[in-house]
Amino acid sequence: MTNLQGKVAIVTGGAVGIGAAITKELAQNGVKVVINYNSSSQAAESLVASIKENGGEALAVQADVSNSDQAAKLVSAAVDTYGQLDILVNNAGITRDRSFKKLSEEDWRKVIDVNLNSVYNTVSPALAHISQSDAGRIISISSIIGQAGGFGQTNYAAAKAGMIGFTKSLALELAKSSVTVNAICPGFIETSMVAEIPENVLEQIVAKIPQKRLGQAEEIAKGVLFLCKDGAYITGQQLNINGGLYM
Ligand code: NAP
Repeated sequence: MTNLQGKVAIVTGGAVGIGAAITKELAQNGVKVVINYNSSSQAAESLVASIKENGGEALAVQADVSNSDQAAKLVSAAVDTYGQLDILVNNAGITRDRSFKKLSEEDWRKVIDVNLNSVYNTVSPALAHISQSDAGRIISISSIIGQAGGFGQTNYAAAKAGMIGFTKSLALELAKSSVTVNAICPGFIETSMVAEIPENVLEQIVAKIPQKRLGQAEEIAKGVLFLCKDGAYITGQQLNINGGLYM
């Protein structure tokens, strides 16, 4: 089991939703967390304050991770502040759901940029640092939609499937090192992203979930913790946390 005390993590989009749950879980386990946010500055600052009140260490850094220069500055901020980087959680994501006939080029590019190109943008500057860790972890929050597809989600499904392919390939390249590379594929989790789905559509989705409920952000955070703590021999995998919706 890896002792996480004193390890350093970046969580992209770590101030709200699933990202905030991951941030809290890691901080509770002794990890110094760099909370990246794009627009949620208040949420990021109050999360930093509450982690510090509980004796942990945290830093909020604004960066649009779809921009490679800003992503590089985020990684520099983490290393400059804490002197090392052990864990990178690529959590930032957006949806712009439209049926393909109505999908604009901008909707396509924006979703690919924020969900997928951001992974390249953060891993590129982070890898040299994570490679120095005795237990490096690169974890990308993909989606059930990247595995099974989703109506009106060609852009999002392509981005999330791309994260899975990236994960498997980088895992192979790094397998001889102490760095593992994995994806987590959540099903439908109760956050503001799912709140955008019309209520009647959401009811139909829940009816199809074998466990008959939405997931909680904390349940995804537990998956991240598991990979960080107990995942030394787990690499190139997709951890499905979806109530049985996709097996
Ligand atoms: P959310 O509450 O809408 O959070 C989205 C997060 O992404 C926010 O922290 C946001 O930061 C961040 N973000 C968006 N654009 C960004 C950018 N350009 N640069 C940096 N950060 C950016 O949604 P969520 O449900 O927690 O989603 C988190 C991740 O889980 C996403 O990758 C999503 O695709 C994935 N996921 C969610 C579900 C679900 O059912 N909820 C299912 C499968 C996968 P700011 O608020 O600071 O802008």
